[in-house]
Amino acid sequence: MTMDRRQFLKAGTAGVALTGLGGCAGMGGGAAKGRVAVVGGGYGGATAAKHIRMLDPSIEVVLVEPGDAFVSCPISNMVLGGFRTIADVTTPYTGLARHGVRMVKDVATAIDMDRKEVRLTRGDPVRFDRVVVSPGVDFMWEMLPSMRADEAQARVLHAWKAGPQTVALRAQLEAMADGGVYVISVPEQPYRCPPGPYERVCQVAAYFKARKPRSKILVLDANADVTSKGALFKKAWAELYPGMIEFRGNSKATDVDWRAKTVKLEFGDVKGDVVNVIPPQRAGAIAAPYITANRRWCEVDWLTFESKAVKGVHVLGDSLQIAPAMPKSGSMANGHGKVAAAAIVAMMNGEAPNPSPTMINTCYSMVSDKLGIHVTSVHKYELTDRTFKAVPGGGVSSAMNEAEGAFTMNWARNIWADALL
Ligand SMILES: Cc1cc2nc3c(=O)[nH]c(=O)nc-3n(C[C@H](O)[C@H](O)[C@H](O)COP(=O)(O)OP(=O)(O)OC[C@H]3O[C@@H](n4cnc5c(N)ncnc54)[C@H](O)[C@@H]3O)c2cc1C
Repeated sequence: MTMDRRQFLKAGTAGVALTGLGGCAGMGGGAAKGRVAVVGGGYGGATAAKHIRMLDPSIEVVLVEPGDAFVSCPISNMVLGGFRTIADVTTPYTGLARHGVRMVKDVATAIDMDRKEVRLTRGDPVRFDRVVVSPGVDFMWEMLPSMRADEAQARVLHAWKAGPQTVALRAQLEAMADGGVYVISVPEQPYRCPPGPYERVCQVAAYFKARKPRSKILVLDANADVTSKGALFKKAWAELYPGMIEFRGNSKATDVDWRAKTVKLEFGDVKGDVVNVIPPQRAGAIAAPYITANRRWCEVDWLTFESKAVKGVHVLGDSLQIAPAMPKSGSMANGHGKVAAAAIVAMMNGEAPNPSPTMINTCYSMVSDKLGIHVTSVHKYELTDRTFKAVPGGGVSSAMNEAEGAFTMNWARNIWADALL
């Protein structure tokens, strides 16, 4: 009987005993090639966890995530518009179990590379051979000093991590009287989802147009101009919501008087009836040891997503120092998850990772309850500069119509299935 390489590798580890998963037994009763721990079950982490198992079921995957279910930021702006519910953007993690991903509902507090363990708030540590870290972003509250108080954060919402804050911001908008002012503060780039704030403006405007037509929207943007799909968003604002939206560029928030619902700018203060402040962001806290760029973001070897700071740790998603023209998006994090999964499986099988991976980004935005717009790009690894570069030819579509709106929901359902089902 001849053996191929994969059978050989499997046979070669057949006698290796599993060490425990904290208090849990090994998976499926059989011996495994090794174990990958994944921290964070969002777009990057869930995708990587599922695809490692799909590519090589002899690798154990343990996913550490505190959430009961995956709650998608994409489409969550429609919850603010009142056109979707939070349940519509929520997917249970049960689909991952069908792929043999073991879920550990906990918060990772540290990654110990000497012991090769992820330490948890409540449970026993999770041992690993390689670890994937995809915690998304954390907020730089020190840039808005008054917002460090818990009470401040409960009153002035960001809703920049979909979930309870999304529902609470919707409630604030519903409670606002007709004729009120909704103020949204946008941080300087780079931040999670460049078009997200402007899609949010459209969704709130669609709600106001239908239910509170005397109300106004004021966009305080730290950037000089709309940072993504600018022409399309401005067209939507002018055609769909004339006279309702005022955009003020170069309006960086320096603090928030949360009791007075006032955003403090470098020059002057702006008061609103509902104030929605999106703070500046950095890599999620658990990724702090891997931050190498601007004290905010993690750099990686783009072929493997292995941290430049620490070997054996793969960082994905919004925590990354982006490659040229690469947005911080769910679409990209999903791509990171797949490229990293393939590289990790190759490395754990003693093979070289794919030397020329390609990823795509499609970013849809809903500009009303039914109309959508989109931007696309293709990102190819280039050996000369050892980074991903955007392939010429991608770009912004000029369409703003119901077909794009239908594609938006299809994209979302597709990517949720790709990551989680
Ligand atoms: C309003 C809004 C709209 C958006 N719309 C789009 C869109 O239309 N298209 C698009 O492509 N992108 C969109 N995005 C961006 C997209 O949501 C992010 O780019 C994407 O979620 C990044 O994936 P991630 O894996 O890095 O982080 P996340 O998806 O945020 O996942 C991080 C996960 O890590 C977990 N975690 C964090 N710390 C720990 C820890 N210590 N231990 C265990 N678990 C931990 C969190 O609970 C979370 O589940 C939008 C974002 C926002 C805010």
